[in-house]
Amino acid sequence: MPQLRVCALYPDLMNIYADRGNLLVLERRCAWRGIDFRLQGASLGEEIDPEAHDLFYIGGGQDRDQELCAQDMLETKRDALAAAADAGKVVFGVCGGYQLLGHAYELGDREIPGLGLVDLRTVREEGPRLIGNVAIEVDLGDGVQVLAGFENHAGRTLLGSTAQPLGRVLHGHGNTGSSGFEGVRRDNVIGTYLHGPLLPKNIWFADWLIRTAARLGSLSQLDDRLEADAHVLARRVAGM
Ligand code: GLN
Repeated sequence: MPQLRVCALYPDLMNIYADRGNLLVLERRCAWRGIDFRLQGASLGEEIDPEAHDLFYIGGGQDRDQELCAQDMLETKRDALAAAADAGKVVFGVCGGYQLLGHAYELGDREIPGLGLVDLRTVREEGPRLIGNVAIEVDLGDGVQVLAGFENHAGRTLLGSTAQPLGRVLHGHGNTGSSGFEGVRRDNVIGTYLHGPLLPKNIWFADWLIRTAARLGSLSQLDDRLEADAHVLARRVAGM
């Protein structure tokens, strides 16, 4: 029986905008297809085994929760996550979780250290929070598709010279409000500012995550009429 083993990092602390909803979508879509879905949480002080999971997930969080998690992540999880990323496992970070995938998040004279899995830094500058509905254009290998969601972040994420964005902004702010890029992708390590949660309204991306993490060549079709409507609506509210 195919299996998807998910490790949710700091599910109690990194979960704003109901980012946990993304996990529910993965669980349901696996159950409907007879894929054995396993979910394990790893919070403060808990070590993780890179071999024991196929997908590592970290949601969004307030600056103070991110700070709490960052130090712990370096002490108890960094090496395992780096090994998982190098082995082609999926590491998926949303908003605050996305920022923590990079080198650091600078807040004035403070710096929250990151995992350094991807070449980026996030800086909290003067200026408004970047808030609103957003749509981006993404190609994960199956042709260009649209991800539609919602963003709310004060940090501006600057990609380093070796980092590739996840997509191109069609509507909304994205990484900095002016770069035209959103998110980051390094093989199967993906970061994005899109919350909402993101997967219920972008079911194609949920299936990409399942297929890639569980290493399945293809997935059976589901009746996705409601999900297709949700995607159209999310695109529409993002001005598309
Ligand atoms: N605290 C981060 C910021 O404001 C991330 C916020 C979030 O996860 N929504 O930039």
